[in-house]
Amino acid sequence: MKILETIDYNTKIVGIIGHPIKHSFSPKMHNFTFQLQGLNYIYLPFDIQTSNLADSLKSIGVLGIRGLNVTIPHKEKIIQYMHHVSEEASTVGAVNTIVNEGNQLFGYNTDINGIIESLNPYKDEVTKSTVTVIGAGGAARGVLYALIRHFKVKKINIINRTEERSEAIKDYFKAKMHFDNIKTFELMAKENLEIYKSSKLIINTTSIGMFPNVDDSPTDLEESFNSSQIVFDLIYNPLKTKFIKLAEKQGATIINGLKMFVVQGAKSFELWTGNSMDIDFMYEELAKSLK
Ligand code: NAP
Repeated sequence: MKILETIDYNTKIVGIIGHPIKHSFSPKMHNFTFQLQGLNYIYLPFDIQTSNLADSLKSIGVLGIRGLNVTIPHKEKIIQYMHHVSEEASTVGAVNTIVNEGNQLFGYNTDINGIIESLNPYKDEVTKSTVTVIGAGGAARGVLYALIRHFKVKKINIINRTEERSEAIKDYFKAKMHFDNIKTFELMAKENLEIYKSSKLIINTTSIGMFPNVDDSPTDLEESFNSSQIVFDLIYNPLKTKFIKLAEKQGATIINGLKMFVVQGAKSFELWTGNSMDIDFMYEELAKSLK
């Protein structure tokens, strides 16, 4: 492999920390682009358990790592270890990109860029509408921020397995963004069918249905969806989750997580290298390998 031939004393290291990490396509996307652009960088996956998070961040400075992406389940916890946090990441309360500038760790949230790019084609329909967000983790926080600030939605329903977490996120956004039209529901609540039906946009931000658990879905009820809805699943592996397939069968407009994935990655790439990634080219390459 060509990238191995270029590794030397000057090679800059970037990577991703999370757990589990083995299904991430980020190493493929970034290493491919470093090679295309002739940049002396390498992108590595680091499987880090929550108990090792603080120690792993100390090593960034020691090893001279240029930056990291942050994924499940660390996006929220990691914010406390940053020296500087962007305005957006601070409002959201989650960091997915770290840049090391002279041992100072700068935290950003590039998921927001990916969410906005994915939903922008439907902006007119989404603005002032009722939206249901499934999940209350780090990715859900980015989604809520974009829905409130960029799309100016009217009402948000949050459906999540752990009620305390959805209550916490509701209180957080009420305090941070002064948005108080959020209602929370348990994942298996009886009223969820009506909640789904009354939503213009439904977004799955959980990992339910992600490879290898492709037979799982946050809802198994086809009646949850209709042809006037937009249904967005942040998962990109598989490209069509069971959730997306059900929505498509009912005639809904569907969006998978691949555009978001490429856009958030391109923004991280730019923060580390100062270079741009060819988003359309990368989207096509990854779509081919995921099919
Ligand atoms: P996270 O902070 O760990 O949150 C995970 C969320 O999923 C929580 O709401 C959790 O519910 C829920 N969940 C997980 N397993 C579940 C299960 N078996 N049953 C019910 N609920 C379950 O993770 P995250 O960073 O938000 O990421 C969530 C998903 O978004 C992942 O699939 C990730 O790949 C995807 N994502 C995609 C992109 C992209 O670029 N396309 C970017 C970011 C994230 P509890 O609160 O009950 O634990």
